[in-house]
Amino acid sequence: LEINIVPMTMNGDEEPGLLLVLQDVSAIRRLERMRSEFVANVSHELKTPVAAVKGFAETLLAGAMNDPETATSFLTIIQDESDRLNRLIGDILELSKIESRRSPLMFSPIDLPMFLDRMTELLASEASKKEITLDIQTEEGLFLEADEDRLGQILMNLIQNGINYTPAGGKVKVRASIIVADDGEDELVRITVSDTGIGIPKKDIPRIFERFYRVDKARSRSSGGTGLGLSIVKHLTELHHGTIRVESTVGVGSQFILELPLLQP
Ligand code: ADP
Repeated sequence: LEINIVPMTMNGDEEPGLLLVLQDVSAIRRLERMRSEFVANVSHELKTPVAAVKGFAETLLAGAMNDPETATSFLTIIQDESDRLNRLIGDILELSKIESRRSPLMFSPIDLPMFLDRMTELLASEASKKEITLDIQTEEGLFLEADEDRLGQILMNLIQNGINYTPAGGKVKVRASIIVADDGEDELVRITVSDTGIGIPKKDIPRIFERFYRVDKARSRSSGGTGLGLSIVKHLTELHHGTIRVESTVGVGSQFILELPLLQP
């Protein structure tokens, strides 16, 4: 609780008075704390790839350059780490754009089966490189009102995670159908992205939509993850007045369930 005492005079009143302001600042403090935690996390996340780039460049200059094989392997690491840095900066900017509401959503009707087909084409080579089957099935003629780019980001993140966290030979399935909301009236589109991957331990499930939260940092890093994908997904889903949740069994697979209103309120 913050207490402020401000001297003041009422309109035309000669006698000065005091204004006592009592303000519950716990929400503001919590926001400030979250902000500074985020900045600390961002700095840490940025430092890791920068340190790798610097370290390998130094080793190359100190002589490793003379062995072509070592040089190639170090330069590949430098390239990968720079890519990570780029993705990280892109995701951070994206999150801040979403949170500051600087770019409002542009809703338009989207032909979901066609949209998902295009998405599969974009991810097909990545999936086949890992020998993962991408299987997409949707009801014909399913249109929903959404921001096309943002919906693309949501689905891309979910499908990409499915591919990343599924061992070779596995399967990533996307299904879409219309359901009736709990109120018995509104229609929702339910899109599920399920995989036959490593799964998520029960204790981690409540936290995976948090920024930078990863079950296994090393694994996320090696697959090129930034730890921001799902928090972006959650934000974008909420901007569409939708919900997202996950069901998962370790060693069996995960299923992300996205529900969006067919028409935006
Ligand atoms: P990342 O860039 O690390 O993938 P995300 O925000 O997309 O970050 O996901 C957060 C964490 O949730 C991941 O690090 C991973 O531990 C877990 N996760 C997300 N999707 C899956 C999935 N399909 N299967 C298993 N774990 C997942």
